[in-house]
Amino acid sequence: MAPPYKTINEVKYVEEAILNGEISNYGENLSAFNKKLERYFSKPNKIALLNSGTSAIHLALIQLGIKANDEVICQSFTFSATANPICYQKAIPIFIDSEADTWNMCPVQLEIAIKDRLSLGIKPKAIIVVHSYGMPAKMDDIVKISKKFSIPIIEDAAGALGSTYKGLKCGSFGEFGIISFNGNKIITTSSGGALICSSEDQKIKANFVATQAKANEPFYHHEEIGYNYSMSNITAGIGRAQMEVLKERVLKRREINAFYKEIFESINGITLLSEPSQYYYSNHWLTCILINFEEVGFSNGDLKMELEKYNIETRFLWKPLHLQPVFSDFPYYGRVISEQLFNTGLCLPSGSNLTKQDKNNIKTVIMRFISNKIN
Ligand SMILES: *Cc1c(COP(=O)(O)O)cnc(C)c1O
Repeated sequence: MAPPYKTINEVKYVEEAILNGEISNYGENLSAFNKKLERYFSKPNKIALLNSGTSAIHLALIQLGIKANDEVICQSFTFSATANPICYQKAIPIFIDSEADTWNMCPVQLEIAIKDRLSLGIKPKAIIVVHSYGMPAKMDDIVKISKKFSIPIIEDAAGALGSTYKGLKCGSFGEFGIISFNGNKIITTSSGGALICSSEDQKIKANFVATQAKANEPFYHHEEIGYNYSMSNITAGIGRAQMEVLKERVLKRREINAFYKEIFESINGITLLSEPSQYYYSNHWLTCILINFEEVGFSNGDLKMELEKYNIETRFLWKPLHLQPVFSDFPYYGRVISEQLFNTGLCLPSGSNLTKQDKNNIKTVIMRFISNKIN
């Protein structure tokens, strides 16, 4: 039996918005959601609420003045939405490999790339680092390199709301950070996103560009290109309610991660994406494993197919962007870490609505499959 999905205030807030006629891009849900997020990220961080995480990345690039032919350094092991906005600006993504501990941007390759670009007479204009699957990147090293070369950081914390590194919130390290409230994320507004700004001015500018850059005049007056990127007060009602249960959601995901950890602990050849030290606190948005074929005698694809037979859905890890046909012409620095993650990894069912029975079922199928293969 599935426990009833915990009732939260989504319906109430959305209903209020409709009854009050606040169904556009202003209203109480927007201000309440904004206030909650600003309290969460604390001063001096300011939040612009938007219609997606992708538009948040785009607005960060615009504010950093990224234009045609500028170079932007970007983690290769990520979802395409991290890099697409670089191309919206007709700028050039420079892809960087991952390191094996957090699966995120390798600081060593980052520095090699910056030095190489500088030797070619080009200074990259921004660094986009991702906290993949909720796992914080090696922010000490990355921030140090960013400062050394004076290149600002945009943090893609799309799936990392609730994660921290050395007690500081993911999304608050960079000049800008972004989070996503898309349907599959730790909290959702159906679709939506936020830009985490370092100042009030950046927030004002983001909201201005996100609403068609209409100048404050009694008539329609525009001095720059704008976008239709703002969040509606309806979806903000969902986010406002979900923000109230963020802590529980994170604990639930971490519990699911612990469940998988226990299953795989005793199995040589299967490793979980895990916090490398006590400095890392992951929301464990998704639990992911790597499978060493030599040791267990089956691949990620084999396990995926076996679970599919029982309607248990898994996903392959990100296919690195430097290997995507659409991005393959752009420079890449690194070796094969991200490629190996893609070739051997699998995301396991990690939704916070996973029931005890789902878990038992998953465990039984996995254990049976493994023991058949190993014996
Ligand atoms: C989901 C996601 C995005 C995009 O967010 P949207 O709200 O769907 O536009 C960007 N980067 C990463 C790493 C994501 O997981």
